[in-house]
Amino acid sequence: MASNLTFTMIKPDAVAAGHIGAILAQINKAGFKIVAMKYTKLSEEKAGEFYDIHRARPFFGELVEFMSSGPIVAAVLEKDNAVADFRTLIGATNPAEAEAGTIRALYAKNIGENAVHGSDSDENALIEAAFHFSGVEMFR
Ligand code: ADP
Repeated sequence: MASNLTFTMIKPDAVAAGHIGAILAQINKAGFKIVAMKYTKLSEEKAGEFYDIHRARPFFGELVEFMSSGPIVAAVLEKDNAVADFRTLIGATNPAEAEAGTIRALYAKNIGENAVHGSDSDENALIEAAFHFSGVEMFR
């Protein structure tokens, strides 16, 4: 099912570095409407559940430790072509390869601590939104 929603997290590195405001401003300026948002923290168990698809990868332990190391901002965003446009806005997973001006080029430290998450498909956007928010917490 096509959707105009995507899900994002401002990851612990960017929160700790004080980039929440700048990143949200860039997201709004790019035309995304914030449908749901919370300042929260993932337990190791919840971080493992969120990134379950990467469980067999060598960086899984590092990823779970990082994502549960401090608070995050979780949000659901609405825009036409939300998933693809948001992936363009955040840039490549590895900030060294991210296009200039993208959120990861501006704020990510490295391939692991890369400032933001963005859903990779419409299907996952809905699954990830439901992971953090109930229906009454989303305002469309
Ligand atoms: P993306 O977040 O761009 O969709 P992936 O789904 O491939 O990227 O990976 C999920 C997350 O796992 C990345 O955002 C990053 O935090 C972490 N990650 C990916 N590749 C590596 C790696 N080689 N080493 C450490 N962490 C990684």
